[in-house]
Amino acid sequence: MTSVRNVIIIGSGPAGLTACIYAARANLKPLCIEGFNAGGLIPGGQLMFTTEVENYPGFPHKVTGHELMQRFRDQAEHQGTEIITADVTKVDLSAPPFKVWVGDAAEPTLSKTVIIATGARANYLGLPNEDKLKNKGVSACAVCDGALFRGERVAVVGGGDTAMEEASYLAGLTSHVTLIHRRDQFRASKTMQDRVLSNPKIEVLYSHEVRDVSDVAMDRVTSVEVEDQKNQVRRSIPISAMFVAIGHTPMSELFVGQVALHPNGYIKTVPGKTETSVPGVFACGDVQDWVFRQAVTAAGTGCMAALEAERYLGTLGGH
Ligand code: NAP
Repeated sequence: MTSVRNVIIIGSGPAGLTACIYAARANLKPLCIEGFNAGGLIPGGQLMFTTEVENYPGFPHKVTGHELMQRFRDQAEHQGTEIITADVTKVDLSAPPFKVWVGDAAEPTLSKTVIIATGARANYLGLPNEDKLKNKGVSACAVCDGALFRGERVAVVGGGDTAMEEASYLAGLTSHVTLIHRRDQFRASKTMQDRVLSNPKIEVLYSHEVRDVSDVAMDRVTSVEVEDQKNQVRRSIPISAMFVAIGHTPMSELFVGQVALHPNGYIKTVPGKTETSVPGVFACGDVQDWVFRQAVTAAGTGCMAALEAERYLGTLGGH
């Protein structure tokens, strides 16, 4: 008879690995599918692309994103998680036991519960030099990287709430923020806009598009080239960092038609819980959170998902 797992955790960022730690401690013998390169990410999630992490509690002398995730992973394994390095190619959550196809296996792995922790990826502009300068001044997270540019001039790109929040946050750290938006009106809420517009350290460039970022030869950001959409005039603005705040894309493609999603593609969970629309399927971390998006909040919801999965298994009796 094919064996049925208690819990499969899909994803290996802070949410997924915290779920693994709690599920393993509860003796559920979790299986974690950590991913291979789904969505252009690598195991460990978005933190693997950041350099220093200064705001994860417990690390007063900072830690690299890579080391932090290696510690999460080691702890998950040490507690008894089985980890498979492969992408999930398909799921069938229509009825328990749930089916999860892993890597090139023809047969699905079966499980009584599934914890979705596939995360989200930041959207970037697609500029010629953008990729080469990531982590060298190009960032999608002011809270993660802003402090590295204390007292310097920086730019934020975008016109939504995230861009407003990033600009306001950076104004508290840096000497000057240029907020670059492609249209002549922000999409952000009035309150967030007002905060930006009343901040003397923030200069807004409406109707400007970023054409490229420099300087690859110097291996760090020194300027952005912008184009005024009203007259096509280009100019270069000297800055030390460019924060791209044009939205994130949740990694929820696998689950379309399987669990309920919000119109923006994020997985719907019951407020204050990690339950999805399918009993026995839970979602945690950035795939269900577009507001906080922090490693520590993702880890918190990963813990919640494991505890809720454990309780759910308890209702089934005898795991
Ligand atoms: P968003 O609302 O989708 O805004 C994205 C912004 O990026 C828009 O202004 C958009 O311009 C711009 N943009 C998109 N693609 C671009 C491109 N290729 N080049 C240049 N600009 C581009 O995303 P978000 O700001 O991340 O917010 C996501 C959700 O989280 C929203 O519902 C937001 O309200 C919420 N949120 C809430 C809070 C809070 O309440 N504290 C904080 C953060 C986020 P256009 O306007 O021209 O389309």
